[in-house]
Amino acid sequence: MSRIAYVNGRYVRHRNAMVHVEDRGYQFADGVYEVVVVHRGALIDGEAHLDRLDRSLRELRIVRPMSRAALQLVMRELLRRNRVRDGLLYLQVTRGVARRDHKFPLVIEPALVMTARCNGLWSEARFQKGVSVISLDDIRWGRADIKSVSLIANVLAKQAAAEAGAYEAWLLDRDGAVTEGASSNAWLVGEQGQLVTRGIGSEILGGVTRATILRLAADMGVRVEERAFTIDEVRMASEAFLSSSSSAVLPVLKIDGGTIGDGRPGPVTRRLYDAYIGYVRSLSETSETRNTGERAG
Ligand code: PLP
Repeated sequence: MSRIAYVNGRYVRHRNAMVHVEDRGYQFADGVYEVVVVHRGALIDGEAHLDRLDRSLRELRIVRPMSRAALQLVMRELLRRNRVRDGLLYLQVTRGVARRDHKFPLVIEPALVMTARCNGLWSEARFQKGVSVISLDDIRWGRADIKSVSLIANVLAKQAAAEAGAYEAWLLDRDGAVTEGASSNAWLVGEQGQLVTRGIGSEILGGVTRATILRLAADMGVRVEERAFTIDEVRMASEAFLSSSSSAVLPVLKIDGGTIGDGRPGPVTRRLYDAYIGYVRSLSETSETRNTGERAG
């Protein structure tokens, strides 16, 4: 079966999916994106991803390409055409195509591209293995809260991590405090078992997974401090982990070569992971029940 992509109103074979050379996404990284996990056919936290997409578009004054209902229809249809039950959906909106000129064109229509692929998600083995991270200066622009396709600093950080044999880079602001990972949010467990993660602001992306973990932690009675933390605190922490849609809750066992805690996934991380996976499963079960009901009705 050949993969299908959605490009500006058409479903096309993935290998023939193209955008114009003067698309401003290509010329200026003038666009935004979202990555949504698909679990048993359900789009996990789909509404929250579309809320964040709306926010990113608003911040960059890019017109929304279609209504939310229409976007959701295209997302579902793309999953159906690619037979994706477990995987990832990628959605990108750019300001559109126009003769190259930095300032906004007077008349322009946004360009919308989506792809979907089957992908292994989290697993117990992956959780147990955990990951290593390295620390690097955060050289990104000042609006990391916008999910912009301008990812060169993240690309360089991720490459540096890979070359150091690590999975992720934790980025440090000018005060030496961790902002977030190159493609994930950063967390540690403090002395009293409290969770610590950077507060929302222009220095980090407000992760959809981050928000879900905060809700789950509150339900579980785990105390949370949303504040800046330093790399020394990470070194001294009993546990650390990262979060993102595609990685869920992933234990961080080493930073810059030094072991965190006893070098194994810790109990707080375990509880949050279990709660998160339970939450994702409950969402996909609800959506399965609804779909079955719709078919039967
Ligand atoms: N921070 C950055 C820089 C990211 O790129 C991502 C995800 O791609 C995240 C955080 C986590 O966001 P989410 O949980 O919405 O996937």
